[in-house]
Amino acid sequence: MAEILDGAFIRDQILADLKPRVEALAAAKRPPGLAVVLVGNNPASEIYVRNKVKACADLGIFSDKLTPPDSISTDELLAIIKGLNDRPEIDGILVQMPLPAQIDSRQVLEAVSPDKDADGFHPMNVGRLVANRSAPRACTPAGIMEMLRRYNISVKGRRAVVVGRSDIVGKPMALMLMHADATVTVCHSKTANLAQECSRADILVAAMGRPAWITSEFIGCGAVVIDVGMNRLTDRKEVARVFHDRPEKLAEFDRKGAILVGDVNPVDVAARAGAYTPVPGGVGPLTIAMLMANTVSLAEQHLGFR
Ligand code: NDP
Repeated sequence: MAEILDGAFIRDQILADLKPRVEALAAAKRPPGLAVVLVGNNPASEIYVRNKVKACADLGIFSDKLTPPDSISTDELLAIIKGLNDRPEIDGILVQMPLPAQIDSRQVLEAVSPDKDADGFHPMNVGRLVANRSAPRACTPAGIMEMLRRYNISVKGRRAVVVGRSDIVGKPMALMLMHADATVTVCHSKTANLAQECSRADILVAAMGRPAWITSEFIGCGAVVIDVGMNRLTDRKEVARVFHDRPEKLAEFDRKGAILVGDVNPVDVAARAGAYTPVPGGVGPLTIAMLMANTVSLAEQHLGFR
């Protein structure tokens, strides 16, 4: 039977390890500080930000939530970021994506000081990742590496296939796996014969944003499958197809009106993989834990603890 890789369990371990570091900083100087900038009223973003602010409070990290209106201009947002760069009690700055269409997102992300880049998205820190030098790392792939390490899943010398090449997941994931000595293949929407590429993977990471796209023929027998995707299914027929008519899933859908699935078919992966992350409860919980880890590391740097 496939082992389920439990993201909440690993998240709790990561947070428990951070707690004494936060306490040491608070006792000696001040607690770490994270600023979260939430532009407008995107309901999904509001939930993400609420969870991030709560994680800070639970851990003893100071957080400041800034909520400029949807109508803000790029220049006004840049001025807010500059203000945060100058505040000494702020160690990390996170700008919640997506930003409204009139905003130049790239310019905003690049305005965050690289030494306050809690998300690891600044080009300077991406460059450091490419060079395998220490810097804040993109939280989702960093969380996946942490999960593999804590489950003692060896990466060295193994074939890893990453499906997706986005700046926030696919590319940093591929680089982190390569630095951990995996032999890495990166696939994307133009890859010829995706199933064949994926089926050769010892470690398969799916980060495509396509509900349940990765089915049996993509999964090598016994592979470790990491499902980054988070997709809401709202069509009952689609739920029936993806879950092979499992009655409990249809009942759940009827109750809630929607069901969350990853990029990997949940029934197929349980049958073929050696170990896999479920959706929900796999990769999702790790992202916020690594945001906290980045913030604590930045605070340690700023306060001369490392
Ligand atoms: P993007 O849309 O930025 O990137 C998707 C990538 O998948 C692209 O590189 C694209 O290829 C590739 N792709 C799309 N369709 C196919 C296909 N049919 N075959 C092969 N490759 C394909 O998404 P993100 O990287 O931002 O996110 C990916 C998923 O992960 C989403 O479901 C998102 O919600 C989830 N996510 C989850 C997080 C978590 O904490 N659990 C955090 C971040 C994201 P191309 O480049 O050619 O267009």
